Amino acid sequence: MALIVQKFGGSSVADADKIRNVARIVTETYRMGHSVVVVLSAQGDTTDDLIEKAREIHPGASKREMDMLLATGEQISISLCAMAIERMGYQAISLTGWQAGMLTDSAYSNARIKRVRTERIQKELDKKKIVLVAGFQGINKYDDITTLGRGGSDTSAVALATALHADLCQIYTDVDGVYTADPRVVTGARKIDEITYDEMLELASLGAQVLHNRSVEMAKRYNVNLEVLSSFSGKPGTKVKEVVKTMEKTHVSGVAKDKNVARIALVELEDQPGIAFKIFSLLAKKNINVDIILQSIGRDSSKDISFTVARSDAQAARELMEENRDIIGFKSVEVNEQVAKVSIVGAGMANNAGVACKMFEALFSAGININMISTSEIKVSVLVDERDTERAVQAIHDRFFSEFGNA
Ligand code: ADP
Ligand code: ASP
Ligand code: MG
Repeated sequence: MALIVQKFGGSSVADADKIRNVARIVTETYRMGHSVVVVLSAQGDTTDDLIEKAREIHPGASKREMDMLLATGEQISISLCAMAIERMGYQAISLTGWQAGMLTDSAYSNARIKRVRTERIQKELDKKKIVLVAGFQGINKYDDITTLGRGGSDTSAVALATALHADLCQIYTDVDGVYTADPRVVTGARKIDEITYDEMLELASLGAQVLHNRSVEMAKRYNVNLEVLSSFSGKPGTKVKEVVKTMEKTHVSGVAKDKNVARIALVELEDQPGIAFKIFSLLAKKNINVDIILQSIGRDSSKDISFTVARSDAQAARELMEENRDIIGFKSVEVNEQVAKVSIVGAGMANNAGVACKMFEALFSAGININMISTSEIKVSVLVDERDTERAVQAIHDRFFSEFGNA
């Protein structure tokens, strides 16, 4: 007998039939003799709808009140699903984040789980109940409801699996597993049977929303037995683990895109020591994360520096630069919000010089211009014009994964 955490995303609980489908999967697992803890997201587009409702009332609503509102979505799902399970003749109990002991820090709208107090869940499992926990939410030291950031129910599930020492954490979603690229956008995307935590973490951080990146980070740290699979097809999914059998063979595991990007360019900076330090320490103090950085060669004692930030931080970054124009010393600041980042990820690419070249060749063949490049041992990212994003992903994917291409 095992302890299994099963998480179902928004599209898997979107209506009454889908909730009944979840209840069927959960009770089948229970009937096999396992203890089951279920984590649910809000139904369908509920979270987006709630955000829209808030905007109608107050576009600048406080993050605390936003969390109070958004957390209601997941509570609808768990209570309805508990009812569906009860109707099938099994005992179930739904618990909010605080009832389930999900203790977080105080960063409303993007809280991190600090600890899970499992006593209540354990007590209910001991009574042989199926326990349903609201995903995406927790409670902070002020007894306020917090949320974990968009897509955060995956992280709730992995945190529970860790704290309960579960044998398996299954993330059920609307695709058959993790693919070489978003299967809804890219023709020919292939399902990956096994992927390493490191590669999955990169893919998730670079825009593949199939798993919340913090859930992968946590799964890696605590060696959680993680699986991504479909709520609908019944097919085997993708196993996420430390080492995979195919690791030596493939150079590239997947292609991801991220449109939440903006590029800031500082033009005609003085070419002298300390400039980069001034710029990036100002941004760090305001908690603005910088991703790709590019500095031009100095000419006539001037140079340019450009960098990318999340699109939501672009205007704040521009204002900060403008306010400090005299201290930094530059001619102008240019912001481009119509860019996107396209990346390839693969554990095997570190020792293979041709991989980046193959990616650039694919973009060249498609007539797509590269604005910036950044590389690491396990990924290559390029910045392209936003309107080229989908074409870029498809072209790169074709180059690495077409029938005759070898990744
Ligand atoms: P859920 O509501 O179940 O949490 P999400 O919408 O958050 O589901 O994530 C699943 C979606 O992730 C898929 O429908 C798919 O379009 C998208 N996706 C993006 N990249 C990938 C990828 N590499 N593999 C699988 N799905 C991906
Ligand atoms: N309902 C939340 C969201 O839409 C959390 C989740 O789905 O994981 O972001
Ligand atoms: Mg999700």
